[in-house]
Amino acid sequence: MNQVDFNLAMQSVIKDHLNAPTEELIMNVTASRWEYHNWAISGFEKILEGRKLSFDIYTEKFFKEKIVEKFSRSYPGWADDIRKMMNELIENGWNLSIPLTAKNYHGSFECYIDTNDIILQKIIESNCDLINLKCSRCGLSGDEYISDGVCEKCR
Ligand SMILES: [Zn+2]
Repeated sequence: MNQVDFNLAMQSVIKDHLNAPTEELIMNVTASRWEYHNWAISGFEKILEGRKLSFDIYTEKFFKEKIVEKFSRSYPGWADDIRKMMNELIENGWNLSIPLTAKNYHGSFECYIDTNDIILQKIIESNCDLINLKCSRCGLSGDEYISDGVCEKCR
């Protein structure tokens, strides 16, 4: 995409989101950052620049808080483990230059990291395995009847 098209796309994102809640824009440029095209992120960032936040949202720690928050709304049973996974990633060198996306895909927690770092990949893999043994609502594990991410009790 050339610069002119990039700017046009970005301007239309700005126009469409000018009144979007600050919390939503912050989520978009942090925990959901790699789910958007780069022109959309630039648009969200321009709007946020105009709102003059009094704190730094571009830190690994803040990203962790936002991704935990993003999941804890709908999948509280997984929140503690997602926090643990993010702590391990940060301790082992993950930073904001390494794209990371996470989502619930048909009831299973899926996380992707764009890096060749084997340690970071292993942390993702082992934590996803662990999380997927747990009910996304109550966090119960070891229940063989978990289906679509939800245990029998919570269904
Ligand atoms: Zn449950």
